[in-house]
Parts: sequence; structure tokens; C-alpha cells
Amino acid sequence: MNTSEKSASISVRSDITAQLVRHSAQDSDVAFAARVSTLGDRSLDDVNSDAERSKGLINFLMRDRHGTPFEHNSMTFFISAPIFVFREFHRHRVGFSYNEESGRYRELEPVFYMPNEERNLVQEGRPGRYHFSPGTDDQHTVTRTALERSYVTAYEAYREMLDAGVAREVARSALPVGLYSSMYATCNARALMHFLSLRTTHAESTVPTFPQREIEMVAEAMEAQWAELMPLTHAAFNSNGRVAP
Ligand SMILES: Cc1cc2nc3c(=O)[nH]c(=O)nc-3n(C[C@H](O)[C@H](O)[C@H](O)COP(=O)(O)OP(=O)(O)OC[C@H]3O[C@@H](n4cnc5c(N)ncnc54)[C@H](O)[C@@H]3O)c2cc1C
Repeated sequence: MNTSEKSASISVRSDITAQLVRHSAQDSDVAFAARVSTLGDRSLDDVNSDAERSKGLINFLMRDRHGTPFEHNSMTFFISAPIFVFREFHRHRVGFSYNEESGRYRELEPVFYMPNEERNLVQEGRPGRYHFSPGTDDQHTVTRTALERSYVTAYEAYREMLDAGVAREVARSALPVGLYSSMYATCNARALMHFLSLRTTHAESTVPTFPQREIEMVAEAMEAQWAELMPLTHAAFNSNGRVAP
């Protein structure tokens, strides 16, 4: 279920989106920043240069973790996800700037997260080494029914308080972490690689991680758009074990 579905008084969604809305990011940004080290002002020739001839340099910088040349670029994403994803996202403090919609200054929309049929429901194993299995039809039905009931009740409580004149900032206490929020997140490639190293599982990762699927969905969408902008940097990230430089 990828589109909105109307219930009595709420909508549910299963999609989580990250849309690149603005950027100044290309592989040659890495090259000119690195070359000032040895060329000084002659590195100006590398601004907007053909990045293909810097492929080896980019790979060397990634491999040896010379990270700062990967910071001279910028990408702004508009992200639409449940609050529990933002709770995890905002732990990434370095190289990210955030602005999120306010629950104090606007009335929050009744849009909630509903895991779709592909979302594995059953957690097995121990902390840090969980694996997930699909779950039975019954477990999917229980999840759907219980979440929807809880969302409807929570939003009714929120509305009841607003209708009685209670401030939005007080009434929002009734709302669960499955409520959708939206934010802009601006980052550079180095910060994004650190985020991806922790929030995606990938065959080429040399350091394992076990992210929650929903933040991984955001990370995958961001990665796909970044890879289009900086294909050489992205390839070097993969071939060096997806460790941020
Ligand atoms: C699978 C997974 C499970 C997690 N589970 C939990 C959990 O149960 N509970 C919980 O609280 N968090 C949890 N987290 C969040 C985690 O602890 C980090 O807060 C989050 O991954 C951000 O990582 P970071 O601090 O490296 O990123 P950033 O905040 O972006 O920092 C980037 C890098 O800057 C450096 N740095 C930043 N701040 C400091 C500092 N103050 N001192 C020294 N160096 C600094 C570090 O090298 C750091 O790696 C989990 C994360 C993952 C990926």
C-alpha cells in the first residue's frame, strides 16, 4: 500500500520519501578541494573540471580516509516520514542541518504510518544481531487493526482538546510516533556517507549494521539521488567497504 488510504478520520501511508530539492554536488568538488594541498591556486583549474580524470584521486582519498575534500558540496532533501524515523535521524549531529514542521505552530495532519505487506514483522535473535521474518497473515492483520484503532483514538483525543481550546503544544501529547512529519535535511557527501554506513545494510559494507527498516528506506532514497550526482564518489564509497572517510 503506497498511497494514502482513508479511514474514518485518519489516513495511513506506507511510503517514506526523500526528495532532493536542491544541490551543489559533483565529483569535481572533491578534486579541487583535495588538489589545493599540492597545487595551491593552480587547483582553481580543477573547479568544474572533468572528474573522470580524478577517479584515482577520489579513490585514494576514500581509501585513506582523507575526509575533508568530501565536505565541499551540499544537498537538501525534503523528507516525509513517521516521527519515529526522525527520532533516529536527528541523532546524526555532524554535517546535517534540519528544519522540521512544528506541532506548536500548526495543527498536525491525521496521517499515520502503516507497515505494508513486505515489511517483516517478527524480530528474532539478540540485540545488535536481530534478524526479521515476514510474520503470519494473522500478525499482519493484528498489526493493521491495532495500529489503526490506536491512531483513530489518539487523533480523536487530539481533536477533542483542540476543539475545547487547548493549545496545540499540549494536545499533541496524545499523538503517537507513527504520525507523519516532514523536514528538510541538508548535508554534504561526507556526512551522508557516515549516515549511509550506519543506516543501510549492503553487500559491500565491511562494518555490519542493523538499522530499522524505515530509516533504511529514507537512506536508500537519499543514496540513489546522491549516486546520480556524484557517481565516482559513490563508487569509491562502495569499493572501499562503505566506510565514511
Ligand atoms: C543500528 C543502530 C542502533 C542504535 N541504537 C541506539 C540505541 O539503542 N540508543 C541510542 O541512544 N542510540 C542508538 N543509536 C544511535 C547511535 O548511538 C548514534 O547516535 C547515531 O548512529 C549517530 O551516529 P554518530 O554519533 O556517529 O553521528 P554524528 O552525531 O553525526 O557524529 C558523527 C561523528 O562525529 C564524531 N562525534 C560527534 N559528536 C561527538 C562527541 N560528542 N564526541 C566525540 N566525537 C563525536 C564521531 O566520530 C561520530 O561518529 C543507534 C544507531 C544505529 C545505527
